Parts: sequence; structure tokens; C-alpha cells
Amino acid sequence: MISVAVNGYGTIGKRVADAILKQPDMRLVGVAKTSPNYEAFIAHRKGIKIYVPQQSIKKFEESGIPVAGTIEDLVKASDIVVDTTPNGVGAQYKPIYQQFQRNAIFQGGEKAEVADISFSALCNYDEALGKKYIRVVSCNTTALLRTICTINKVSKVEKVRATIVRRAADQKEVKKGPINSLVPDPATVPSHHAKDVNSVIKNLDIVTMAVIAPTTLMHMHFINITLKDKVEKKDVLSVLENTPRIVLISSKYDAEATAELVEIARDLKRERNDIPEVMVFDDSVYVKDNEVMLMYAVHQESIVVPENMDAIRASTRLMNAEDSIRITNESLGILK
Ligand code: NAD
Repeated sequence: MISVAVNGYGTIGKRVADAILKQPDMRLVGVAKTSPNYEAFIAHRKGIKIYVPQQSIKKFEESGIPVAGTIEDLVKASDIVVDTTPNGVGAQYKPIYQQFQRNAIFQGGEKAEVADISFSALCNYDEALGKKYIRVVSCNTTALLRTICTINKVSKVEKVRATIVRRAADQKEVKKGPINSLVPDPATVPSHHAKDVNSVIKNLDIVTMAVIAPTTLMHMHFINITLKDKVEKKDVLSVLENTPRIVLISSKYDAEATAELVEIARDLKRERNDIPEVMVFDDSVYVKDNEVMLMYAVHQESIVVPENMDAIRASTRLMNAEDSIRITNESLGILK
């Protein structure tokens, strides 16, 4: 049983903590919080132990939220830390993880250099085995990599061009925008996503462009892949159909909009309406000779959660990729 800490209990951290509680081979030691807000209060109500910075102990106790110890105590009590603090804060914590010689999993908001390897379970699990510091790439990059490494099984991927329509904010982020504009992110080419994909697949020819759209639900990607060989559409559909964490949505069910996908998650009573799978619209899959085009939707708040479970197992050499992906998927109710 591996003892896991979660440092930073926000959008990703709370989902990672809940996922750890469902893994048969992991134990959640506790979570680190800096402010006694509603998320801390709910974690406490769920029976999760809360660790805070030394200077915040009084503030938490005055709010009626008991404190189990300091963040250093949490790190010391764990075999591995999943750092889900805001962009760039993880790098500030790395010296503490090093001081106590603990492995750590960082998130996509950190620079790639913070870790020994950037990670995508379907692409490079084996390379991450035994690595002390692993960075799970961002939500958009996770979706791009899942898709690219899957199509690569049909024929070698030689070139990728992708356009990313990004959600403007997560649902709880009341101060973020835009409310009524499309904003190139940035208005230069390429966007940072291409470089992030290259942090996992080093020499891939990839160019990405991105635009921020006023929605909170999901991202949407439009991707154009050039393969080494001519391929058949049925082979592309078959590999997508048979790969874990990718779902082909049939056009016969009239679900094409992100709002409809979220409604499906609600109807399925998915926790927090999460959709950790890449949701590919089957009618969007277009194949001409060695060119493949497709569209898919990405639920930014949950897609990286299964990857974090696999990164923990890879870092601690608990098991191979196939077993880890299967156990993560079964425990989280991920389709396929
Ligand atoms: P968030 O703001 O929702 O959560 C971060 C949490 O860390 C908050 O609870 C905050 O209070 C806490 N925190 C802040 N400073 C801290 C400190 N010094 N010590 C401990 N805790 C601290 O952020 P998020 O969206 O969960 O993002 C976390 C990471 O995951 C980032 O690297 C981000 O880029 C990445 N990520 C986010 C998404 C997404 O859609 N939200 C998707 C994929 C990856």
C-alpha cells in the first residue's frame, strides 16, 4: 500500500484525492490547504485529514476545521506527494520534497524542467518507471497525446496540426474571462501546446493554435494528422474504439455539443459531472490517403486524474502500464 499526499486541494487536487481513496493499492494520508474555505470544510466533512502551513493553523482552528499537522508533516508521513498547487507553486515546493527525499508528481502548470520526465500514460509509462519527479502534462496536452499515440498504432504519425478551442475558466473561477469574446491564446503561432507535446514525443513535427472561448464546460480540439502510410478509415475507427480512455460518440445519439456531453455525465451520475475520457465524435473522423482529421471534446477538470494515478504507480514502480491503466479505469468507472 503506497501512502500518498495531495498538496493543493483545488479543482485537480480534490479529484486526485477522491481517486486515491478508490485505488486498492493506495492510501490517502491527507491533503494540504492554505485557506479554510468551503473546499477545506467539505474535505474535513468527508473525513480527509488536513495539513496546513504553520502560520495558518490558528486560522483553520478558528474556522472549526481541525488541523492534522503542517505541510512538512504531511510530506514526511507520505511515500509520494501529488502536487496540485497553482501554476509555478509546485516548483517552490520541490526543495521540501527533496529535503525529505520524497517522490513527487507535478501538474501541467509547472515548467517541464521541474520533473525528470513529462508523462502521458498511453505514450511513455515505461520511460517514467522509477522516476522520482514526474510531471503530468496539462489537460489539452493529455488529450493531444492520447490521440496521437493511439493513431500512431495504425501508422507512424509524421506531422500534427491542431486547433484548440479552450474553455475560458473552470466553473468555480468567477473572476476569469472573457465573458463575451474569442481571444487568441496567443495571436501567434505556435501556441505552447505544441512544445508541451514535444516534452513527451521529442521530435514530432507539431504546430498548434489556440483560442479562448467564453465557456466553462470543456475544450474542443480540431486535429489534422499526417501518417507515414495510407490508411483506411475503418482502421482508425477501430483503434480509437479499442483504446482505453477514448470514447467514440456515435452521431445517432445526437450528442455533439459540450453541453450535451456534460448532460450525459449528469445522467450517468458521474461524480462532479466528470468526463476523464477523450470524447471523439465518430462522424468527424475523416481519412484521405495518409491524412486523418477528427474533432473531440476534453473535460479539463478531470482528464488528468487517471494519469496522476498511473504516474504514482510508475514513479514507485508498483506495476506495468497495462495493469495500472486497467486498475485506474476500473476503480474510477472510466469507460473501457
Ligand atoms: P486550483 O486553483 O483550483 O487549486 C489549487 C489549490 O492549491 C487551491 O486550493 C489553492 O488554495 C491551493 N494553494 C495555493 N497556494 C498553495 C500553497 N502555497 N500551498 C498549498 N496549496 C496552495 O488550481 P487547479 O486548476 O487545480 O490547478 C492545479 C494544477 O493543475 C496547475 O498546475 C494547473 O495548470 C493544472 N491543471 C489544471 C487543470 C484545470 O482545468 N483546472 C487541468 C489540468 C491541469
